[in-house]
Amino acid sequence: MNVNVAAQHEADQAATHFDVLIVGAGISGIDAAYHLQQHCPERSFALLENQESFGGTWMTHTYPGIRSDSDLFTFGYGWKPWHGKPIARADKILNYLNEVLDEQDIRRHIRYQRQVVTATWSSETQTWTLEVLQHETGQTVEMTCNFLWMCQGYYKHQEGYTPDFPGMSDFKGQIVHPQRWPDDLDYTGKKVVVIGSGATAATLIPAMADDCEHITMLQRSPTYFAARPNVNELAEQLRSLDIPEEWTHEIVRRNILKEQRMITAAAVHTPEAVKQQLLTMAKEYLGDGFDIDRHFTPSYRPWQQRLALIPDGDLYQKLKSGKASVVTDQIETFTETGIRLKSGDELEADIIVTATGFNMAILGDIAFTIDGKPMNFADRITWRGFMYSDFPNMAWVFGYFRASWTLRADLISAFVTRLLNHMAAKGAKSVTPELRDQDQGMKLGPFIDPENFNPGYVSRSLDRMPKQGDHEPWLFEHDYFAEKDILPAADLEDGSLVYR
Ligand SMILES: Cc1cc2nc3c(=O)[nH]c(=O)nc-3n(C[C@H](O)[C@H](O)[C@H](O)COP(=O)(O)OP(=O)(O)OC[C@H]3O[C@@H](n4cnc5c(N)ncnc54)[C@H](O)[C@@H]3O)c2cc1C
Repeated sequence: MNVNVAAQHEADQAATHFDVLIVGAGISGIDAAYHLQQHCPERSFALLENQESFGGTWMTHTYPGIRSDSDLFTFGYGWKPWHGKPIARADKILNYLNEVLDEQDIRRHIRYQRQVVTATWSSETQTWTLEVLQHETGQTVEMTCNFLWMCQGYYKHQEGYTPDFPGMSDFKGQIVHPQRWPDDLDYTGKKVVVIGSGATAATLIPAMADDCEHITMLQRSPTYFAARPNVNELAEQLRSLDIPEEWTHEIVRRNILKEQRMITAAAVHTPEAVKQQLLTMAKEYLGDGFDIDRHFTPSYRPWQQRLALIPDGDLYQKLKSGKASVVTDQIETFTETGIRLKSGDELEADIIVTATGFNMAILGDIAFTIDGKPMNFADRITWRGFMYSDFPNMAWVFGYFRASWTLRADLISAFVTRLLNHMAAKGAKSVTPELRDQDQGMKLGPFIDPENFNPGYVSRSLDRMPKQGDHEPWLFEHDYFAEKDILPAADLEDGSLVYR
């Protein structure tokens, strides 16, 4: 670090007021910082991150095999080419983000081990005041900003969700949640039961199977998986032609998005055909003798829950090899030596992994107050799924669940920077979504329609989430293809955004 850079770094770290404060230095927070630098270069900003490093999800989760379940051409940013395989391990994703921090000179803006505890808006000063806990000193300091950009993700990073299974305290072995994986957990030669059948279980089983005596995936009900080779043939072909990486990235993204659009449409209009295709993939890996009806034929429509990709069918391969097995049943009780099932069968275990999901954290569990009034987020109505009625100068990056999260983070980042520039041009200090006359009394529905998308962590938290209305701009469209046109063209002067 030369002297000027060091001095700038020190000044950045010492300041307590910024035009924009970004909460979280995961993939969304880094995206927000990139867009601010590109499109609002005159705005000062900092990222406040609770953990000791960047990456969010990819820093928190350290369980064996931890990887993406969607492809990195679309999970990566639109503006930074991905050079690797479509499905990537956490270390590769962290390397990618690390490159971004250097290339875009974002690192100096991040303050680690800073937990935002409260956020208080004053209409008088048109600022947010944050109480920020500094982990290294245990002290709370105040920071202020004009715009609060919430990039804190959607789940509690400190702890995962574990149901209260009967008899858990009787079990003499070790119970582990994947979100808190002990560094020294030795599963060599052990009998392991993984409870759950989502992307986490599908990652853990193939990663651990060769070292365990045996590993069992215990599921209450089956999940759809898409098994395919972890290679993007179009990317390989373009790379072999020495096409610039930026072009390859863009072309491959577009191709993947086109395929996803076709699959999504088919899942809605011809769900049975899509289901049969997924089951055929499973059959090709598992062979005819496998009870696919029982273990891999869910009762829900494909796409009602996130469809996880399993690269090279690795989960199926381990099941076929006999190193792993799947049991579809319900837990009666934990016992001293394992789990007794409702069918009466017993599963012996030295280690039980509860891959049972997340707990949602609404707005990072930060206590929000506006002009002295505590805000209950559940009473708010969302403005296009990232701003909220009567919340001034605040956006929460909430990505797609079915498509890659980052596609929406990019769209929101572009929108927020356009909005900030619009405010600057108007001389406005704040923007607040407010219901217009024509919006009063509109029909309200849940933030996420359970008919459309219904994983457990969402269902468990819907009552704490804001509502959506029945017309634009009060809808949360979970559809990249609609939003990629709606958001860049959204009218900033339609009366639903009030500037002061
Ligand atoms: C194991 C796993 C695999 C996943 N794979 C995919 C995938 O393949 N494709 C996909 O689209 N999505 C995937 N997801 C969803 C994933 O979480 C998001 O796609 C994405 O990583 C979220 O990025 P983010 O930056 O918005 O939030 P996060 O990654 O959750 O990061 C938020 C950051 O904010 C910090 N923070 C939170 N609260 C506070 C606070 N009060 N003060 C200060 N800092 C705070 C956290 O410490 C964290 O670092 C996966 C999720 C998990 C858990």
